Amino acid sequence: MPIQVLSEEVAAKIAAGEVVERPVSVIKELVENALDAKATEIIIETGEAGKRLIEVADNGCGISYEELPLAIARFATSKLKTAEDLFNIRTLGFRGEALASIAAVSRLTLISCPPHAEHGGKIVVQGGKVETYEPAGVPPGTVVRVEDLFYNVPARLKFLKQDSTERNLINALISRYAVAYPEVRFRLVHDGKVFLQTYGHGDRREILATYYGVDVARQMLEVILEEPDLSIQGFTSPIALTRSNRRDITFFVNGRWIQDVALTSALLQAYHTMLMVGRYPISMLFIWLDPETVDVNVHPTKAEVRFRQPERVFSAVQRAVRRALLAQPVGIHIAPSV
Ligand code: ADP
Ligand code: MG
Repeated sequence: MPIQVLSEEVAAKIAAGEVVERPVSVIKELVENALDAKATEIIIETGEAGKRLIEVADNGCGISYEELPLAIARFATSKLKTAEDLFNIRTLGFRGEALASIAAVSRLTLISCPPHAEHGGKIVVQGGKVETYEPAGVPPGTVVRVEDLFYNVPARLKFLKQDSTERNLINALISRYAVAYPEVRFRLVHDGKVFLQTYGHGDRREILATYYGVDVARQMLEVILEEPDLSIQGFTSPIALTRSNRRDITFFVNGRWIQDVALTSALLQAYHTMLMVGRYPISMLFIWLDPETVDVNVHPTKAEVRFRQPERVFSAVQRAVRRALLAQPVGIHIAPSV
């Protein structure tokens, strides 16, 4: 085949595939946008596990009527200007491609209004093409509605799991963000039924309880470590409370949920020999670092990061978790810390 430049439509679908894999990836991007917009209330609704409908409403800074078409354009962002900014990211988004990607593979309605604006607006995009764009009198904040995800990418549709599985992924995502942002009110509704509701009281353990149950939440040990330019907060389970997989090991770095194998093994090192083979702790750790020491631009979904001083971060995680384990009530013998 001769070399050809792909049509914009095909290119957009390929790019979308990197960001949007399944309903939960759409929800992650929309919730991150709401958090970047400094929302204090985020309401997430799904229909048929997000396959038919995803709606995320927030009371954040909104988008002006004039900027609505830009919001859904590729590589259009209000969060970054120069390539140097990439090394000092303080927002969850920065690539400017989430809304464009989602719009390329669904029917997307974006309704928004900044506080104090005379009016807001509404734009409807289907398969990347703008269908309607008009001013609208709407309350301050933003509503993003995503209907019929992957209607034009049948191959992707086939890869989606049954509703219960997709919903579990969504539940896991929102409960983690709810714990990470305890001052934000979250509500997650599936097919009209409230799955999770938090109240923005700022109490992380209370939110843990809504997802893991009161018993687990009560047993979780508090993790805390403060160093210059590095802090770790969160929870980890005592050795008597374990799971059969690593799925309940969660790390947030500078407010972003990331998946990092090396961080996980650092954590497991802290439990060294204390866990039975094949058992894993429940942990949720929030790591804060100078943004200049974390490269977040290594993965399209931003699920991975690179640390400038990985050893320092891993050792801090180990020490923090060790200390939490040692502080648990006596009666269980634990070897002295490293
Ligand atoms: P990114 O988040 O990487 O900038 P997105 O495609 O997710 O890219 O969003 C594009 C732009 O649209 C954002 O930079 C922001 O200005 C605006 N935007 C998106 N969602 C919201 C929201 N919920 N509230 C306010 N502004 C938003
Ligand atoms: Mg974004």
